[in-house]
Amino acid sequence: MKTRGLIFSLLIPLLLFSNRPITMTAQNPTPPVYVTLWFDTEDYVLPQSDDAALRVAEMLTRLGVKATFKVVGEKARTLEQRGRKDVIAELKKHEIGYHSNTHSQQPTIAVYLQNTGWDDGSAEFYRREVQGVKDIQRIFGVTPSCYGQPGAAWAPQTYPALKQMGIPMYLDEGSHIGLDDQPFYYCGMLNVFRMQSTVARMEFRGEGNLEQGKAKFQKAYDSLRSQGGGTISIYYHPCEYIHTEFWDGVNFSRGKNPPRTEWKLPGMKPKAEIEKAFSDFELYVNFIKSQPGVRFVTASELTELYTDRALRRSYNRDDLLKLAQVIQKEISFQKLGGAVLSAADVFGLLTEAMSQYIERSEMPESLKLISLYGPTRPFTPHSGKTSPREFSWHAFAEAIRNTADYHRNHNRIPAEIWIGVDNITPEDYLTTLASLTEEVIKSGKRPDRVAVRSGKLTTEKYVAEDTVKLWGWVIFPEGFHAPKIMELARLQAWTLKPALLQK
Ligand SMILES: [Zn+2]
Repeated sequence: MKTRGLIFSLLIPLLLFSNRPITMTAQNPTPPVYVTLWFDTEDYVLPQSDDAALRVAEMLTRLGVKATFKVVGEKARTLEQRGRKDVIAELKKHEIGYHSNTHSQQPTIAVYLQNTGWDDGSAEFYRREVQGVKDIQRIFGVTPSCYGQPGAAWAPQTYPALKQMGIPMYLDEGSHIGLDDQPFYYCGMLNVFRMQSTVARMEFRGEGNLEQGKAKFQKAYDSLRSQGGGTISIYYHPCEYIHTEFWDGVNFSRGKNPPRTEWKLPGMKPKAEIEKAFSDFELYVNFIKSQPGVRFVTASELTELYTDRALRRSYNRDDLLKLAQVIQKEISFQKLGGAVLSAADVFGLLTEAMSQYIERSEMPESLKLISLYGPTRPFTPHSGKTSPREFSWHAFAEAIRNTADYHRNHNRIPAEIWIGVDNITPEDYLTTLASLTEEVIKSGKRPDRVAVRSGKLTTEKYVAEDTVKLWGWVIFPEGFHAPKIMELARLQAWTLKPALLQK
């Protein structure tokens, strides 16, 4: 990832108010601001970056701040080969995440996934990347607590494979998907991603870098406190403290893939500049620590803080009625009590509820949620024919029972729902199903005929358009973009929902 430019004009009024005391009363307790500090520990080319990782980890240990080091598989193996037991031991005092097997060696993740579908893409990611997880387990003695992609090499097919590797959280920054600059659930996994206004970073260079870094933090902090709390994401790379350019930029830019014997070392900063980077960083961390209500958290602490309550509760008929009424207006995520349900969550619940009603002529008293993926290919209309918009109860009921069975077999929403020889979109099916659920719960009766109602999934707006700019990582080949990856990303927007803080 490369950092974005800041709009300093917006920050100036805030600078004037920074460090003001904040008074809290018993009625108004301090809203928590969780700060997750993570390091993409990836440079396996420049040996001095091992020392940089050691030094930053030692500093944070001394300051009592626990960070998350997302280690590249090749970096872990390199530390082992160089005999850097000291670095491994110091990083282990913090938390270990995963940052791909070889990071920038070609082909990178989004390149090798660009033409794959869901299942083959996920299997390919697993095949190419699992070795790094195994090596981290062997070298660090832990399973990584999170994963984040190299550069802009994001793809949704990674999620099922990560779960298979035992990795429960996505921690990175990028533009492909996000929800209001705070943590969210996607593909059944907690994501801290596209945090934008709540990403804080102090750059190591430039006039007033520390003051600007503090101001950026303060702005995010004030905004989150006014909303009752939230999370700030801060990322670095240990090699950034010491180098003049990234280790991969000098070797793998624009699709280049030289053999190991021809790898070049990146340049290093002068000693005084390196010392300033470390000392500014210490001041920056101490500044953050001193803010009321701030708590540094690792990836695994975030998974606890943002546990998905929707999975823990059960759903009675009143709940099903509310969910059915809201989803008929808009196919999106919705709040229910202290939980948030994605469109996919509601799809699964209502299908299961009505399927049980069809079998027993009675709505279930209580249901649990099953976590589903979205469809894994786009809907293709039945060729040469427009599907009718009205069916017999018998025909639609059979489609509901069949969809419930599909869930149990595939753990996902089908791309199309067949009613005899006619197919309809999952959106139209869900809207129609919700209206049937409402009718059955309210009247206790089912209709003889079912009119198909139209629906549209609106959470697709949280997924970025496929553009060359979205994939603007210097390691990709010139002009690279990946429309199929983003199409799959939009299909998985069924699973998107905000993550709520457990207070
Ligand atoms: Zn990286």
